[in-house]
Amino acid sequence: MSAISHGDPNIRVLIPEERIQARVQELASEIRAEIGHGPITCIGVLKGSFIFMADLVRALGGPVRCEFLGVSSYHGGTRSTGVVRISEDLRHPIEGHHCLLVEDIVDTGLTMDYLRHFLEGRKPASVRTVALLDKPGHREVEITADHVGFTIPDEFVVGYGLDLGELYRNLPFIAVYTP
Ligand code: 5GP
Repeated sequence: MSAISHGDPNIRVLIPEERIQARVQELASEIRAEIGHGPITCIGVLKGSFIFMADLVRALGGPVRCEFLGVSSYHGGTRSTGVVRISEDLRHPIEGHHCLLVEDIVDTGLTMDYLRHFLEGRKPASVRTVALLDKPGHREVEITADHVGFTIPDEFVVGYGLDLGELYRNLPFIAVYTP
């Protein structure tokens, strides 16, 4: 584990930028191997997945549609409230599409479980899921993403799209935040 702190004593690098970039390429190959080379509708969960989504869709190549879902469940704290609310719906129908739900992190699993059912209700051809990070130590619903970038310990992380009170999303690495 690196000691780089970017000048902020509260953060410690957990996954450096190069490892993330290499893993994103591998995930894209795994996903293409399963879904094939036809169109994929990638559905990014805002805001946390926006950087992962941007890197992943470029690594996927081929025909890709980009959609976003706005979801709120944290309200700026470091623990889930357990309530999932859609704040921004899809802009286009996904009926008949091969969909890929793109999440930053699976923690309790409540968000991914809710969104998978939500998408299945729109009659897509298929729904697969990818999460950059998996924190299995804190599950409340038995769910695992079909594709996982990194399994991490039960610690609060920031960077590469993940925030604390809307800050730190722009860090190019994943870091553990300790107050
Ligand atoms: P879940 O519903 O699985 O508990 O949580 C999913 C959402 O909670 C994620 O999409 C993310 O927005 C937020 N979340 C869970 N763990 C963390 C974490 O360690 N850091 C940050 N910044 N957000 C987290």
